[in-house]
Amino acid sequence: MPLSLATLSMVASPVSVQEGLKILERDDYRCQYCGLDGRTSFENALVMRVDFVHPRARKGKKDPSNLVACCTPCNTIKGTKIYANFDEAKSFVLKQREDLRKVWQSKSARQSAKPAIA
Ligand SMILES: [Zn+2]
Repeated sequence: MPLSLATLSMVASPVSVQEGLKILERDDYRCQYCGLDGRTSFENALVMRVDFVHPRARKGKKDPSNLVACCTPCNTIKGTKIYANFDEAKSFVLKQREDLRKVWQSKSARQSAKPAIA
């Protein structure tokens, strides 16, 4: 069990390639939070990860029941917070994604509203 420098506590080892592939296969290479399909393109495949639902940094176990296929953006948004269960984590991630989308859309709208440079 390696030491997490973030929390100075012992954490479960990251999953091996073989263990990760088993989880990705089980979840059909789809992010269990946003539904991104890791099989539709090389770019999507590149962002697929295995997420510890109860975070490793918070002593989450490396057990298939605690592991899900996840895209990197959802993994980053979820962070190392502890949720009551997977559904609560999913609700949090989807809400954050929606909030980020609104910010992004408002910025994009401003950009396209700018007058063209003559
Ligand atoms: Zn996702």
